[in-house]
Amino acid sequence: MLRSKTKILADNQDPGIWGFDGSSTNQAEGSNSDCVLKPAFVCPDPLRRGGDILVMCEVLLPDSLEPHPTNKRAQLVPIAEKYADQEPMFGIEQEYTFFSEGRPLGWPNEGYYYPAPQGPYYCGVGAVEIAGRDIVEAHTDACLDAGLGISGTNAEVMLGQWEFQVGPLGPLEVSDQLWMARYLLYRVAETFGVNASISAKPIKGDWNGAGAHTNFSTKAMRESYDPIIAACEAMGAPGKVEEHLEGYGHGFEDRLTGLHETAHYSQFRYGVSDRGASIRIPWQVAQDGKGYIEDRRPNANIDPYVVARLMVNTICSALA
Ligand code: ADP
Ligand code: MN
Ligand code: MN
Ligand code: MN
Repeated sequence: MLRSKTKILADNQDPGIWGFDGSSTNQAEGSNSDCVLKPAFVCPDPLRRGGDILVMCEVLLPDSLEPHPTNKRAQLVPIAEKYADQEPMFGIEQEYTFFSEGRPLGWPNEGYYYPAPQGPYYCGVGAVEIAGRDIVEAHTDACLDAGLGISGTNAEVMLGQWEFQVGPLGPLEVSDQLWMARYLLYRVAETFGVNASISAKPIKGDWNGAGAHTNFSTKAMRESYDPIIAACEAMGAPGKVEEHLEGYGHGFEDRLTGLHETAHYSQFRYGVSDRGASIRIPWQVAQDGKGYIEDRRPNANIDPYVVARLMVNTICSALA
């Protein structure tokens, strides 16, 4: 979950350590409520501009200054360092859904209440096919002005659903920048009176869920094909499927049904070009004999620090 508050700094003053009331965020008891904020990632603030900055913080415990148990970034740091020589890289596809007046943006508020079935909306163009492009474009500009590694956007399969991609970047960089891009998405959508949701299955029934397909490579995978296959095998090794699903976001059972371009969560399968697989090897990667793999299972609501830690740990330990 994202929260924010504003601190007024003197010119060139360092943001420094700060704090907040952890009892209001379920991170502390009221009787010992202070939690510590430590800057982790800083970028220009594209909304206020004029030299102002956005500071993403991690949470520490007040007495020890050790990471708070909810601080997943701190758990990624040692794994990223351990396998840095393999140069792991991520590109994450963040799907999300705009909501307005209690329903997805663009959905009718009369008659059957549902839009025409899925089909024309994915990468759609035109006012019947898409809703919310002004917000998407404003968000893209904000990410670019902030210097984030956003690499594309597209309208999604369900009306009102969209995607942006961040990467390819290293494990910490992609995670920090995805969180900051989410923050900007919420902030920009706010100004339109619209809520952006990363719920994994916002509308039950015959409507696509929202994922965070996680594309991954190491230096070896970017150079030859055997490590691509070895990476897929490592992800399917005994115990790994369950361990990963546990960290792949709330409500994966509702989304990974085997329908709507997913593999059922109880099954693990990888394949070239296969959008019904758990892990897809893109066609171009098979063609080139090198590149990256796409884990299609992570939900839109993942904590990228957790997914990055799991994938680096599983694949880099197997390829070491
Ligand atoms: P899809 O066809 O699944 O919709 P996208 O174009 O939305 O694919 O996303 C692909 C993602 O893969 C992008 O974020 C891109 O930056 C990322 N990517 C490309 N090459 C690599 C690589 N070698 N390692 C990791 N990620 C990569
Ligand atoms: Mn995509
Ligand atoms: Mn998509
Ligand atoms: Mn994808």
